[in-house]
Amino acid sequence: MTKTTLNQLATNPSCMDDYDPNAMSVQQARTFIQQFLNPVIETELLAIRESLGRILAEDIVSPSNVPNHNNSAMDGFAFKYSEGVKLIKVIGTAFAGRPFDGEVKASECVKIMTGAVIPKGADTVVMQEKTVNKGEYINVLEAPKQGSNLRLAGEDLKSGETILSKGHQLQAADLGLLASLGVATVLVNRQLKVAFFSTGDELVSVGKPLEQGQIYDSNRYTIYGMLSKLNVHITDLGVVPDQPDLLEKTLLEAAKQHDVVITSGGVSVGEADYMKALLGKHGQVLFWKINMKPGRPLAYGKVGLAHYFGLPGNPVSAMVTFYQFVRQALLLLMGKTVKPTPMFVVECTESIKKAKGRTEFQRGFLFEEKGQWKVKPLYNQGSGILSSMSKANCFIVLDETIGDCAPGTQVNIQPFEGAI
Ligand code: AMP
Ligand code: MG
Repeated sequence: MTKTTLNQLATNPSCMDDYDPNAMSVQQARTFIQQFLNPVIETELLAIRESLGRILAEDIVSPSNVPNHNNSAMDGFAFKYSEGVKLIKVIGTAFAGRPFDGEVKASECVKIMTGAVIPKGADTVVMQEKTVNKGEYINVLEAPKQGSNLRLAGEDLKSGETILSKGHQLQAADLGLLASLGVATVLVNRQLKVAFFSTGDELVSVGKPLEQGQIYDSNRYTIYGMLSKLNVHITDLGVVPDQPDLLEKTLLEAAKQHDVVITSGGVSVGEADYMKALLGKHGQVLFWKINMKPGRPLAYGKVGLAHYFGLPGNPVSAMVTFYQFVRQALLLLMGKTVKPTPMFVVECTESIKKAKGRTEFQRGFLFEEKGQWKVKPLYNQGSGILSSMSKANCFIVLDETIGDCAPGTQVNIQPFEGAI
């Protein structure tokens, strides 16, 4: 990829042969954005519960074995295995947290609970259900193989093993894993500071009445929801009307105090689309027409030190461009080791009209039929039909090579679950 700077691209888009801002593929746009992203470097030490969703700033190396002793996987009897064993004497009991401290010899056993330390001399546990109680003795109905029903020391984690790597985003299981090692605090990257605002004279925030020609601002709410899932620090700067001086003031203030500024609306070529001129004056911002539907206009660049994303105003376009470009960029800036979004191939039950040469992210509904998962595109795919995002549970991703699809075609889908 290019070593061309953002400034060169912004001021002279023809400086590179393979760079055409008016015909960017989805993948090209992603790659362009990625080369300008440097993760945050500041870190903080957090109690493990506070670290959920945060990005590890260091590798976590196991300080001990987990479990740290051989223990029983069953309620039963721990004994010293020998061929054809039948009648064994019970010489004591071992509870989880209260070990039996004698030694088990041949033809002896200890009654043992799940999680209790395997007593010295014992090497096998027989399940309680496979025995009959005979007073001081038990009768083994079905002898297990030697070594059965034990959880071995270090079987989960070995001392010195790297169990979580720098760049990992901490999940519920990880908090438990850290606790199982006795780790109380972890070093994580600081939160990314993200500000956003909507632009448009027609927009009104919820809670106020609408006048003729006005609409409620919905993008700020979807953007808020999408950002909340990422565990970033969010600043909502409200609706800014299409007034160059106000837009300028808000943008510059936001860029001074945040790592990222996201706006929606005003990045096309309409008469009230002032953002473009403003960004030309203050930023190193690239304006792209992406070969995709919905979400054609997209702006990316820097205003001061802050990264800037200008999303289209149409509510579905704003969401699609967020998911396809901004989400991954924010994760990279947070310092996460990012993996590609999972895609699955399923049968599409209806026909799809689609022009080759651009990528479409149609809203689809994934459902099960006779044990098979299938997808149905939603009826109205308009970029202003926000209800389609609510009703859908996946994107149907149709790349540039795909044209019209007949019912029964296998298509790629990205489930919302987990991402949205
Ligand atoms: P724009 O990109 O500013 O030309 O806006 C494109 C379309 O999206 C117009 O119909 C706008 O009214 C609508 N729109 C822009 N911003 C928002 C918003 N925040 N919430 C809902 N609709 C919006
Ligand atoms: Mg507008």
